[in-house]
Amino acid sequence: MISLLLVSFLSMAHADEQKAQKAHVHGEANISIAFDGKKGRMEFHAPSEALFGFEHEARSAKDRAKKDQAMTKLEEKMSEMVVLAPELKCEIKKEISEVIQSKDHGDVDAEFNITCEQPVVGTTVRLQFAKVFPGIKKAKVDVIAGDVQKSVIVKKGGESLELK
Ligand SMILES: [Zn+2]
Repeated sequence: MISLLLVSFLSMAHADEQKAQKAHVHGEANISIAFDGKKGRMEFHAPSEALFGFEHEARSAKDRAKKDQAMTKLEEKMSEMVVLAPELKCEIKKEISEVIQSKDHGDVDAEFNITCEQPVVGTTVRLQFAKVFPGIKKAKVDVIAGDVQKSVIVKKGGESLELK
């Protein structure tokens, strides 16, 4: 069951991201993660260029391949970017991912479900996006877990965030 708090946090974060989407900053990703006990939900937003190097519509075979490769990587390597404590035995699964194309820009939006065997509160999460996508030079991450609410700017070298 998803608590009301979690839902309102995510919709708040979403409104912020919609605003941000109008004038996204190249190289910057926005991530919101909300945990309710052993379950979590994550929203990931980044300019397309940070993930696959361009923002025009992928028409050529070469561009389509670059885009598909990046979208697969996003799905398969999220647990290398958001590294939860190994003893929690968490699984991060993609629910939706899409590229929203406007005239001059492209945005990648993705949502993930997180399922752990133990509650995450009190543990440390390691955040490292540039390791998988060097184009993500900066990521603003908002995390809520129980009573804990934290925001962190993750740069190239990554950050560790204590969920307490
Ligand atoms: Zn752009």
